[in-house]
Formats: sequence, structure tokens, C-alpha cells
Amino acid sequence: MTTFSPFVTRFAPSPTGYLHAGHGFAALQAWQAAQEAEGSFLLRIENIDTTRCRLPFERAIYEDLTWLGIEWPHPVRRQDEHFDEYQQALADLAKHHLIYKCFRTRKEISDAVLTAPHDFGPDGPVFTGSALPASEEQARIDAKHPYAWRLSMAKCQEYLGDKWDNLFFTEEGIGPDGQQGQIKATPAIFGDVIVARKDIGASYHLSVTHDDALQQVTHIIRGQDLFFATHVHCLLQALMGWPTPIYRHHKLIEDMSGLRLAKRRNSPSLKDMRENGMSREAFLTSLDVNLMR
Ligand code: GLU
Repeated sequence: MTTFSPFVTRFAPSPTGYLHAGHGFAALQAWQAAQEAEGSFLLRIENIDTTRCRLPFERAIYEDLTWLGIEWPHPVRRQDEHFDEYQQALADLAKHHLIYKCFRTRKEISDAVLTAPHDFGPDGPVFTGSALPASEEQARIDAKHPYAWRLSMAKCQEYLGDKWDNLFFTEEGIGPDGQQGQIKATPAIFGDVIVARKDIGASYHLSVTHDDALQQVTHIIRGQDLFFATHVHCLLQALMGWPTPIYRHHKLIEDMSGLRLAKRRNSPSLKDMRENGMSREAFLTSLDVNLMR
């Protein structure tokens, strides 16, 4: 008897700029894996950052993927239509006192990590804090001071008990330092991460894990730049009772000088390539050449 195990993966771009070859490679990795497993490939538009996401970039994503020969079910989940769901997830975390309001500015955070001894994580010195005394917090709310919500690593550890030391995820791809197999998640390496930004009421970590659970994603195929974020995702999954999918992180595509492609560095966009008449086949060949370098 053959047992059927579902395979659901997704490509989850943020429309903050035009996609480059690295995004094309990531989308193709996920699409091909879904084809091989006779599973599903979903497209999700991660546009909670309403200050940076733009519709023309989103439209170009649909055109780029079509050019790559990728198909996806409709309607596409667009995160900015679901802020109420992320609020509900925050409320669940708040119910267990796992998050606290943080009124500090960026400058105050960097001053705090520089003046007190702090650990260093993948993103630099890590910040840990706690809620203000109730009266002070209320005074700030009354004065309309904006606040972010941070996940308290100390409270999470207390809440999870023994489970805190037993958070694992399976890496079927490869992390930036060759990580493979069963990886122990150590979410405290990032300190008290933001789960809802001051300006947008949610964060990448919260919305991505929420949606992967909601959409029953079983395999997350994405670039190695997000490998360390998985430590935090694994924690959120444990706190919220969401399953931890299998992860397959892949190498990043680099430019001729060995730098990774980036929207902010104006790496050539897929839109430009296809509008300049490049064929899908020529693009695939360029990826092969890039990976062999
Ligand atoms: N939206 C994220 C990005 O564009 C990717 C999310 C993910 O694959 O987990 O970088």
C-alpha cells in the first residue's frame, strides 16, 4: 500500500521592487519540487509593508512567473487583506504574556545594546527587554506614543519549559554554513524580535508563519538568506501550535563579482530580461552557468 503524503510549497515574494534572477531561481526551485512530488505550488504576495509594496511590482511578479512557465492556483493570498488574522495571532500571544509593547526608537535600541553587555546574533547585538510598568505604559499610550510588539524570549522560554530546548527543524537543503539534517532551533540568537511593527501592525516573522500554517505548507523552499529566520519561525510555530514544515534552503544566485543579487543594488530584473526579448530557455541556461561558477 502506498501512503500519500501531501506536498505543498510556495513562493512568497514581497512586491517592494522588480524580481531579479535570484527570485526567478527560487520560484523555479519551488515549482520544480512541487512538480516532482506531484504536489502543489502556491504563490503568496507578502505585502504587509504597505510603505514599500507597490502594485506595479506585484503585476510584474505575475508576468515574470508566467514567463518562467510557472502556474499557481487563484485567488492568490495577498497579506495586506488579512491584517485582522495577524492581529488575532498577536492577541493569542498576548494572552500568554509572550509579547510586550516596545516604545523605544531605533536609536534607543542601538544605544541600549551598546551600553549594556549583549549577545551577538546573525543580525548583530541582540536586544532583550520587558514591558514597562503598567502606569508608565498607560501614560505613553495616552500620549499616543507608537509602539511595536516584541516577543519576549525570556517569557517564551518560561512558557515552553522543556520544549524550549527541544525545538528542531529539518533542513533538507543546505544552510549558509553547510547546515543540514535536524537543526536545533535557538531563537534567542535574535533577541526579542518584533512581531508587529509600529507602523504596520504585523511583521514578516508573524505573517509568514501564520500563512504557512493556514495554507498547510509542508515544504518551504527558499534562499539561504532566510535560513537563520527559521530559528524564530520554529519558535512561533511551537508557541502557536502550528506544525513546523520541512525546510529546503538553497544557494543564492550571485553576480559576476560574487555579490548576491539584490533589489536595492539594482540587479537586472526579470522584467527587463523578458522585455528585452530573452527567452525562458536562455534564462535557464544563464542560471546553470551562474551555479557552476
Ligand atoms: N517575503 C519574503 C521575501 O520576499 C520571503 C518569505 C519566505 O520565503 O519565507 O524575502
